[in-house]
Amino acid sequence: MSKYIFVTGGVISSVGKGISVASVGRILKSRSISVSVQKLDPYLNVDPGTMSPYQHGEVFVTQDGAETDLDLGHYERFIGVELTNASNVTSGQVYSSVIAQERQGEFLGGTIQVVPHVTNEIKRRIRKVAEISQAEVVIVEVGGTVGDIEGQPFLEAIRQMRKDEGRDNVLYIHVSLLPHIAVTNELKTKPTQHSVNELRRIGIQPDVILCRSDREMSEGIKDKISLFCDVDKEAVIPLVTSETIYEVPLLLEDAGLGDFIVKRLGLEAKESNLDNWRDMVSRLKAPKEPVIIGLVGKYVELQDAYYSVREALCHAALAHNLEAKIAWLDSEELEHGNNDKLMQVQGIIVPGGFGYRGIEGMIKAAKFAREKEIPYFGLCLGMQTMVIEFGRHVFHNEKVNSTEFDTDTAYPVIDLLPEQRSISQKGGTMRLGTYPCQLVPGTKAAQAYSGEVAYERHRHRFEFNNDFRQPLSEAGLIPSGLSPNGNLVEIAEFRDHPWMLACQFHPEFKSRPDFPHPLFVDFIGAAQNMLVEGAQTSLPLN
Ligand code: GLN
Repeated sequence: MSKYIFVTGGVISSVGKGISVASVGRILKSRSISVSVQKLDPYLNVDPGTMSPYQHGEVFVTQDGAETDLDLGHYERFIGVELTNASNVTSGQVYSSVIAQERQGEFLGGTIQVVPHVTNEIKRRIRKVAEISQAEVVIVEVGGTVGDIEGQPFLEAIRQMRKDEGRDNVLYIHVSLLPHIAVTNELKTKPTQHSVNELRRIGIQPDVILCRSDREMSEGIKDKISLFCDVDKEAVIPLVTSETIYEVPLLLEDAGLGDFIVKRLGLEAKESNLDNWRDMVSRLKAPKEPVIIGLVGKYVELQDAYYSVREALCHAALAHNLEAKIAWLDSEELEHGNNDKLMQVQGIIVPGGFGYRGIEGMIKAAKFAREKEIPYFGLCLGMQTMVIEFGRHVFHNEKVNSTEFDTDTAYPVIDLLPEQRSISQKGGTMRLGTYPCQLVPGTKAAQAYSGEVAYERHRHRFEFNNDFRQPLSEAGLIPSGLSPNGNLVEIAEFRDHPWMLACQFHPEFKSRPDFPHPLFVDFIGAAQNMLVEGAQTSLPLN
């Protein structure tokens, strides 16, 4: 039987709940305890798949093709698990299924209420993760902040879980913020007290409080929180903002959180072993030479939209003992401006995206990379823009395009598959989730993977159009990864270029700090060798 850890957030959003959940998972796993994770999102959208990146940041895709919250990316990267669609539940899903059941007459004419019908549905979905994963511990993050109107049914459901599952099988962690007041140089506990009061009003008494702050927390503050919030002193855990998010499991472990959870839930655990993780973090924190990568996208002012890409670059750079420094290049700006900025990077990456805005800038970046022999890595849309650019070059025609951007083009090098053409709905019409990709021997792709087959996650509607495979191949584009029946081009690379490769899938979702992705590692390896004049000087990097 699984035990449950429920994590709530107080005072502000973005307090570090997702990273905390991921870190708790890692410290339990380091004791050989099996873990699964779930995020409960209180908003009414059915999934984040159709939400704007401005609202939601990146959409993280699981192996089974669920379009989920980016926190699932943290969970997978920190814990090294592969999650499923059961791991992200939204209010939209919960209400749609309750209402569908009502329409089916399943409630036999009863009045449908938040308690018990909606809360039962939430609990059913929480238990489903335990059932599917058979994990010893299921960690459940409640999105939003305690006190939000939309969050109430979720809090009520997790309150009931303690009674249903038994007190020793459920633990509540509250992640809160201690603001720092500069004049008096103090951390303040009042907002935390209020947010714990709010939790108690619903009937949840936290067992652990993680106190996020930008400064060290004194013993006095710990005592105060312990007293006012009625939490064991050893369970008041400081969470001081760290240099890298990957350090958080170590901070929590060293503060005694792992031991406390094991004791409190009566878990059978081995000695904690975080040696490899510790080693990875100390390499990450050590000063390293930079490798400067230009990321060309249309949401560059909002870096959460490319979260997994940024992390994958960081992991791959670490494998070369380098630090990835990203120059965020606005594709719309590139479209109308010159190539000055592109000249200052060692590698160019074009990540995924939808819609025509900014596309011409991405195509310009691909042209620049091809002509100047700068390493280029295209991810999904970045493969499509690479193919469009090459098509324009080969056919001497600026009308070459994807039918996503020009439905009437005479050169649709990227197109829907014939069977997709009649679909008009926006949600749920994409190729989603993991598909096998056969690597063509002797190519850069096969060499990078050092294998024959790769399994990678997809999220797109459009595909490389086979009508153009022959002329483009003859001109130097090598389809180096194919679907097992050979029908779909999954990876393309250039014969006459040091490293210009793009894939129709999203490799960034499978990169882990301790297991960097082979294509990213190869790309950084190629970029490392590019010397760029003035690169260190003028571009803002992070
Ligand atoms: N817009 C493109 C498609 O739908 C690419 C999608 C993506 O980059 N995820 O095929």
